[in-house]
Amino acid sequence: MTFLATSGPETDSVAGRPGRVTLQGVSKIYGKSYAVKGLDLDIEAGTFVSLLGPSGCGKTTTLRMIGGFEYPDEGTIAISGTPMHELPPHKRPVNTVFQAYALFPHMSVAKNVAYGLGYAKVPKSEIATRVTDALGMVRMKGFADRMPAQLSGGQQQRIALARALVNRPSVLLLDEPMSALDRKLREEMQIELKLLQQQLGTTFVFVTHDQEEAMTMSDRIAVMNGGRIEQIGSPAEVYDNPASAYVAGFIGQQNFFQGTVRKAAGQEAVVDFPGGTLAGATPAATLLATGAAVTGAVRPENVTVTSQTAEGHNQVRATLMGVSQLGSYLQVVTLTDAGVKILARTSRSLDVPTTVGTPVTCSWPASAVKLYPATDASSATPS
Ligand code: ADP
Ligand code: MG
Repeated sequence: MTFLATSGPETDSVAGRPGRVTLQGVSKIYGKSYAVKGLDLDIEAGTFVSLLGPSGCGKTTTLRMIGGFEYPDEGTIAISGTPMHELPPHKRPVNTVFQAYALFPHMSVAKNVAYGLGYAKVPKSEIATRVTDALGMVRMKGFADRMPAQLSGGQQQRIALARALVNRPSVLLLDEPMSALDRKLREEMQIELKLLQQQLGTTFVFVTHDQEEAMTMSDRIAVMNGGRIEQIGSPAEVYDNPASAYVAGFIGQQNFFQGTVRKAAGQEAVVDFPGGTLAGATPAATLLATGAAVTGAVRPENVTVTSQTAEGHNQVRATLMGVSQLGSYLQVVTLTDAGVKILARTSRSLDVPTTVGTPVTCSWPASAVKLYPATDASSATPS
């Protein structure tokens, strides 16, 4: 199944000029608390950017302020240099696909899509062409006369997308649009949505709490925490170089170690944690001082499990607790004598101990260790 349009005059005629979205010092206050606080965000025209974070971190509020459904209490929002934050939604070159697709049940697919043209004052003669074009983009041309109840969830979502694209927006906002779909369909639509975005060249701002979804589709990911952006970067940047323990824990899996700095030199340090030592570096600007409390993070794919005994930094004795086959790789769970759980992820082809109860050594290279001030760890949300 695909809802990707083939390139051609159809899509060329519908693509609007992609917009650059700039938020400066944007805040939204509900009652006494900030839903969004002093947010700066610059989204390049024609890119796919995700706002990623746990429930309640301010993603939807940010999106609604870009769309004009909420007005910021502080700060400015501009699209391609034009201030937007005081304009109502229909005066912004923006369209939104909401979490619940909310098609009108008593209207045909074609009428639902045409409804998106409502405010745009498109001449009647053009409406039919525009609707056909938009349905073509989502590969639903043959469905114009159906009623929403006669469509699957995935098809309804495509119609919601067509309804948002029919206006040729400069910016398309999407708020967890796939959360109602089952996993397989969601994964297919992630790839197709990204390809559609590339073909249309429209700026997409996509809200999700699902880090894999954000990784799959985005040019850049803005990781949000408590109404702020904690880090923005390419999927590889936020995965390989998380700026904080929070980001390290939210994107992908991590082993976290709580410890104290034994000795430090610049951004390199040796850290004692219960049952072992970490030697590694911190990406944080804060220099580590002897005695400082730190959180160390090591990704499971960087951990090697062997039955050899070993001494030294970044090696710890543990007991094998379990092995699971997860498709192409093995996930190995171990527990150190001090009660620290360490996860390892290895290729199935590698020879690793598999008998539960076996004493093992978990080790990893110093380059895999990221050290953060321990205060960061309290807000970390391992996914
Ligand atoms: P997310 O989309 O990341 O889950 P939201 O932007 O919906 O987060 O919400 C951010 C915070 O603002 C939450 O604490 C939420 O309860 C609060 N909030 C959102 N909308 C309203 C509202 N209309 N009135 C009061 N509080 C709200
Ligand atoms: Mg939300």
